[in-house]
Amino acid sequence: MLGLMMNQPLMISGLLRHAEANHGDTEIVSRLAVGGTHRYTYAAAAKRSRQLAKALIALGVKAEDRIGTLAWNTHRHFEIYYAVSGMAAICHTINPRLFPEQISYIVNHADDRFIFFDVTFVKLVEALIPHCPGVKSWVILCKRDEIPENTIPGLQCYEDLVAAQGDDFEWPEFDENTASSLCYTSGTTGNPKGVLYSHRSTVLHAYGSSLPDALGGSARDCILPVVPMFHVNAWGLPYACALTGAKLVMPGPHLDGASLYAMFEEEGVTMSAGVPTIWLGLLQYLQGNKLKLSTVKRLVIGGSAAPPAMIRAFDEHFGITVLHAWGMTEMSPLGTVNTYKFKHLALSAEERDRIRLKQGRGIFGVELKIVDGDGTTLPNDGKAFGDLMVRGPWITSGYFKSEGGNPLRDGWFPTGDVATIDPDGYMQITDRSKDVIKSGGEWISSIDLENIAVAHPAVAEAAVIGAAHPKWDERPLLVVVKKPGQEVGRDELIAFYDGKVAKWWIPDDVIFVDDLPHTATGKLSKLQLRDRLREYRFPGA
Ligand code: ADP
Repeated sequence: MLGLMMNQPLMISGLLRHAEANHGDTEIVSRLAVGGTHRYTYAAAAKRSRQLAKALIALGVKAEDRIGTLAWNTHRHFEIYYAVSGMAAICHTINPRLFPEQISYIVNHADDRFIFFDVTFVKLVEALIPHCPGVKSWVILCKRDEIPENTIPGLQCYEDLVAAQGDDFEWPEFDENTASSLCYTSGTTGNPKGVLYSHRSTVLHAYGSSLPDALGGSARDCILPVVPMFHVNAWGLPYACALTGAKLVMPGPHLDGASLYAMFEEEGVTMSAGVPTIWLGLLQYLQGNKLKLSTVKRLVIGGSAAPPAMIRAFDEHFGITVLHAWGMTEMSPLGTVNTYKFKHLALSAEERDRIRLKQGRGIFGVELKIVDGDGTTLPNDGKAFGDLMVRGPWITSGYFKSEGGNPLRDGWFPTGDVATIDPDGYMQITDRSKDVIKSGGEWISSIDLENIAVAHPAVAEAAVIGAAHPKWDERPLLVVVKKPGQEVGRDELIAFYDGKVAKWWIPDDVIFVDDLPHTATGKLSKLQLRDRLREYRFPGA
């Protein structure tokens, strides 16, 4: 017997309709690529999204067409998210930090019909045009008098397209499993692969990520997603903010410490989200200028491991709770978030420290397990570590155009991460499977060793890689960027590990560098680092 409840499909347009009806006067504030600040409300955003949907139809966009974006976090990108998916086309966010050859590969693979881009990317677009013959036209995200000099044939102006339409448009209702948006993984190995989200997966992810033990946004929050809208839909925040009615602050292209500090203070930001490198920049700016953040309560840190020293610094010096989160493009992205349980509240600060450096508990909607090389499930005892597998309604079942074949194993998605899970359900990443250091047949966690190094007062950033060793196969090599004006030597850093890890885990050598390579999504690029250090040999080895 079936239940007798309405079978109303979960539509992305429903999120915007909800925000318009219930939070119509709540603000969306954007810093623009052309300079200046734009300010309007959810009601105005909903109206302009309807105008844009009509403009898309007038341009000839049909259901399932892919519409690319090369754009920062702004109100216009927000409108594109809703208008494109809302009219049953597919919003394809492209990471402008990729190499132009990767971008043209992605545009052609996705068959993008139109591309909307910020003024910052005029030169990039000019270089892409000869390689992207399938793109019918390019739309620049500004007013007509703000268009920079360019050689783009038939360039369309976003504000003209929107202004030409009324907002008399009803969002269509269709199957909730319809594709809504597309995001390519950075492809550290092989070609980038497209993850194709649906209306249903996006709305469920917005629900799940808004839970109090997840990101917990609310109508009393002012949320600034530092994480770009081209990186897994800004971790779903443009949807979750409409769902909860949070004020939304869009930072545009300015993500340095000084710009973030100014926006946090001017707009009263209560919560923000981004990768550790961003927060490193902000911490250095705050500490260097002896500043405090007066309204921020929670910072979501994910994308790579949040070093415990960073979690502690935000807590102790700024009174800010860090929500350590883990996920991936294939997971929309949210998988786990670290929050305490009731029983933990009575623990000492040191005992709680041990819990909060983990990546957190699976939120409802994401099941986790760890398996060994044969696929046998390992115990959740906090000690055994194995390949982390996930399943749930906002996790990919396969890549766009079946790229790479079926990724699932027995219905579970292999994350490529190596992790432990403790009896309370807290998962801790020990490594990406390709970064784990294999020394004499045993595994050493590079993340653990990096976390210790960055706790040293003279260390700004650290990476540990497995360097080739004639006897042990690989041994840990610590690569360090010093804080400006600080000094520390090799022996002091090696001695810093004494008593913190097993003796055989301690790095054999330290190299000091001016900077570390990062990927297009702001993560340490161990691939590039290993490449840079290919000629490295341990002293005496
Ligand atoms: P990419 O395209 O680089 O794979 P994703 O954003 O999809 O980009 O990256 C997902 C990966 O990032 C995860 O599989 C994991 O290795 C890493 N990651 C994400 N969050 C964390 C975290 N909190 N701690 C450690 N690693 C993380």
